[in-house]
Amino acid sequence: MDLIQTEKLENKNKHYVIPLINTVIYPNIQTKILVDYATGKYLLEEIKKTSEIYPIGLTVQEQLNSSDISKSSLYTTGNLLEIISIHKTDEGYLLSIKAKSRVHIDSITQNDLGFFAEISERRDIVDIYDSEKWSVREEIRNTIHDISMNFTGSEQFTGPIDKMESIESIIGFVLPFLPVSLAEKQILLEIDSLRTRYLRFLKLLIDCKENIHFRIELTKKVSEKSARINRETMLREQMKAIEEELNEINGAESGDSGYQERINRSSMPDDVKKRANTEVKKLEINGSQSHESPIIRNYLDLLLDLPWVLNEKKSIDIQKTRNILNCNHFGLNKVKNRIIEHLAVLKLKQEKQGSILLLVGPPGTGKTSLGKSIAEALGREYIRISLGGIKDESEIRGHRRTYVGALPGRIIQGIRRAGTKNPVFVLDEIDKLGVSYSGDPASALLEVLDPEQNNSFSDHYLELPYDLSDVFFIATANTTSTIPPPLLDRLEVIEISSYTKQEMFFIGKEHLVPKSLSEHGLHNEKITIEDATLRLIIDKYTHEAGVRGLKKQLDQISRYISEKIVSEKWNLPCKITPDMLHDILGKEIRRHECAKKIAVPGVATGLAWTPIGGDILFIEATFMPGTGKLTLTGQLGEVMKESANISMSLIRSRFAHTTPHIDFMNRDVHIHVPSGSTPKDGPSAGITLFTALASLITGKPVDTRLALTGEITLSGSVLPVGGIKEKILAAHRAGITKIILPKENSVDLEEIPLDVLQELTFVMVESIDEVLDETLDISLLPPNLPSSMNQSVSAFNLI
Ligand code: ADP
Repeated sequence: MDLIQTEKLENKNKHYVIPLINTVIYPNIQTKILVDYATGKYLLEEIKKTSEIYPIGLTVQEQLNSSDISKSSLYTTGNLLEIISIHKTDEGYLLSIKAKSRVHIDSITQNDLGFFAEISERRDIVDIYDSEKWSVREEIRNTIHDISMNFTGSEQFTGPIDKMESIESIIGFVLPFLPVSLAEKQILLEIDSLRTRYLRFLKLLIDCKENIHFRIELTKKVSEKSARINRETMLREQMKAIEEELNEINGAESGDSGYQERINRSSMPDDVKKRANTEVKKLEINGSQSHESPIIRNYLDLLLDLPWVLNEKKSIDIQKTRNILNCNHFGLNKVKNRIIEHLAVLKLKQEKQGSILLLVGPPGTGKTSLGKSIAEALGREYIRISLGGIKDESEIRGHRRTYVGALPGRIIQGIRRAGTKNPVFVLDEIDKLGVSYSGDPASALLEVLDPEQNNSFSDHYLELPYDLSDVFFIATANTTSTIPPPLLDRLEVIEISSYTKQEMFFIGKEHLVPKSLSEHGLHNEKITIEDATLRLIIDKYTHEAGVRGLKKQLDQISRYISEKIVSEKWNLPCKITPDMLHDILGKEIRRHECAKKIAVPGVATGLAWTPIGGDILFIEATFMPGTGKLTLTGQLGEVMKESANISMSLIRSRFAHTTPHIDFMNRDVHIHVPSGSTPKDGPSAGITLFTALASLITGKPVDTRLALTGEITLSGSVLPVGGIKEKILAAHRAGITKIILPKENSVDLEEIPLDVLQELTFVMVESIDEVLDETLDISLLPPNLPSSMNQSVSAFNLI
């Protein structure tokens, strides 16, 4: 108090003290205060006595009840108050007052009426220039703006401040709202130096601003954190819910214990159960979050999914099977009989499969669909896997579980899919298995297909023997030539040959047309595909041994009809006539129009067998000046090259004396077999090569509707060849009318359908002389050559 300048007031004994609880009043401020009834009454009485009454407003240092206030609890600096009005309210008296000036309490006394103080005035020390004052005021205003920006509706607060000229007024206006302690506000009241007071006020404002920013930051952080926590909690809850749901789906209500229950309920054999229990224990030890857990779960799922016991044994009904096979497939009588015989044996053997059926034939001849019909007839599940292109043994036998992404082999996967122990299991394209550095899948298949071994098939993934002896395996292939002999040994081959045009027609009419129409949502009774149309499709729009291409063309017609009906261009009933085919299917695709070909010397038609059915091929030969060289093109194999050489030698030996004008030493011969991109081999082209060369050197063309097949020897004999049925059917399809065959192949004609036999002429030959007679109408001298010709032949062969 030494710095305080005081001045004794005249009426110094008479100042009544109004204790201000939790309030500091600043000079020049008009405000309202609430006082208790006793204080209010006293003041009213005093006002009645004298209109000039100036009580002192003194702030109480602590928060006390009015009865507890003592002299020492009052600050010693306050304000001289002018009472403007006084009103009685429910809580006390409301005084409207104006703080006139700061005063210092020199002494204070207390009686029944309250506190009375002797005072002296406190004067401000004006130690600040106007310019400084201005700067400080601006700074104060800016800071107040900054603070109030954080509160909505702050304009109502900042508006009056912007209009206030004096800093005192601003302090008086703002101080009640400033979030600083009472002591801090009191200090501000007690400072006499204006400069110090203003700067202190500014500092309080800045502190407040920073404090508010800090709080905002803090609130933001807290709310971000709580949002994150909320989000995490929510995700955790969701995860828990999903896990619970998954567990319910898997039948595992409480984590992994579901497995235990499922294993106990399952009909696994004891050794499998033991293994499964060990895995469950492993799962429990590792915990469901460990990286091994999905591997164990997958394995346990496999053990639980696999059928381990045969639940129901349906007895084989031979008559029913026959009916279903007849109903689903046209013709194929031999094949059907073989299947029925096989099933009869199976029935006697209590359904343990002895040998495995292998259906061999060109594509689209019904091999796979026969498998499906067998499954239907036996009332068993049907599973098909394609072995085409499989090079890896693990595809059959599975991967060991130690590998990442290990899976069981295709056999075990198929059984799992079937869900029964005795499905009809079709192993498609067994002739297209490959071999690679990762093992030989064919040897793994041996174990699957060998009835001696397949009751304990071992899959690397499963690690437990699995009994496949109840499975009805059927294999399919286009050829037996690429099937490894040990595997072929275990298979019972049933050959399915190409269809004749007539068979194709009936398959189309009775099976494929109704099937295609119904697959495309068409009611076949109101849509007719005329017989002539079907025959035209077979003749001109397909070139195949089976009926897959025919089905595709019929599907195209069905799509066409569907579009017309949907777009209301056609009304039912409707008919597909031959003349509509060009519009629907486009131009004809038939390749070999033999009848239309122009006969030229040096060209002969041969017959070939391929895994996709028989075919015809043209052999062309030509002469040119040269040195006696023989050129062969068209990707001919070794055997075919040999046949070409034999033919050339035979020609030279047989024709030397009938065509002396041809000097073989000055001519090169070129033989070409078109479709150069397809490799060709085999001995059966022998007589065709010979005929083409004979036609060339005699200048006589061979009839384009004549085809030949047969092997030749250097002595001029014609030897029998294979694939006769396929070759004849292909020739018939291609429009050939006469076929020259080795005599020894006569027996094969028994297999040819009657309708085809009736449309073809067969000439059975034993020697090339008969071939020449039949093809070129030439009779040759026996080969007793002059010695000069013998020399030229040997010279040619040295080249
Ligand atoms: P593959 O397995 O021999 O290649 P698919 O069994 O797949 O041939 O047969 C192709 C289509 O031809 C199937 O729609 C099938 O029903 C039909 N099919 C084949 N042969 C006949 C047939 N003899 N009778 C009826 N439909 C047949």
